Amino acid sequence: MLPGPDLVCACPDCEAIVRVGSLASWNNFGAIQWTDGRLGGETIPTGAAIRRCTSCGRFHWLRDLRELGEIDFFEPNVKPPEAWTKAPFVPTDLPESTWFEALDAGLGRTIAEEIRLRYEAFMAANDELRYRDDGRHRDATRENMKRLDALLARRRGDDLLLRAEILRELGRFAEARRLLEPDRWRVVEVIRVHDVRGTHIEKQEKRGLRKVRDRLLELCGKRDRRVRPVEPRAVEAMLGTQLEAMANLSPRT
Ligand SMILES: [Zn+2]
Repeated sequence: MLPGPDLVCACPDCEAIVRVGSLASWNNFGAIQWTDGRLGGETIPTGAAIRRCTSCGRFHWLRDLRELGEIDFFEPNVKPPEAWTKAPFVPTDLPESTWFEALDAGLGRTIAEEIRLRYEAFMAANDELRYRDDGRHRDATRENMKRLDALLARRRGDDLLLRAEILRELGRFAEARRLLEPDRWRVVEVIRVHDVRGTHIEKQEKRGLRKVRDRLLELCGKRDRRVRPVEPRAVEAMLGTQLEAMANLSPRT
């Protein structure tokens, strides 16, 4: 990962200055694709679409912050104002409770925004469970998952995989399987084909989606309701790489 310039912004309500970090480049080598759609791994940039202002306490979408300028560390001749370099960074990882607070504060003004906030809350709840074999969703998490599924069901077509995952994690395996049936699935593929640009991407996309679908069906068959990696061996491989890296870093005897 290569860091890019920091974006300097002002709160639209109280004018407090914050910095938003950026990345000049990143790759998805060693990344893990999870069944809930989270793409995780050390090389993947994280970033939340919202933040709570530490000065006025209000929630905002990052796109609604007022942009003041950039701090570019590769341009040492341009000296940014001290207020910029001292400004705090917006947090990139938010817990489930913060997404719920944003919903309570009315940040989900449209159906699409509410879906985004509820989906982020769902993934944040799963973040606590990804690498464990115990632990379960809280009542509030399950309630959020049901609301999210109901909102997605009102939209056309494209959300079958996510809905199937939510229902699977709720333990409603028969309903999840029904969403993954081949005749419904053909609809998803057609929609996806129109969504993407090049032929190459299109084929990869279709293959990737089939892989997720097959994995969800397999997990439904086992009545497994935990969030899982799409490729079961991916986690072991990543941990193996980390252990190797640590072994290389430790002092030789
Ligand atoms: Zn503010």
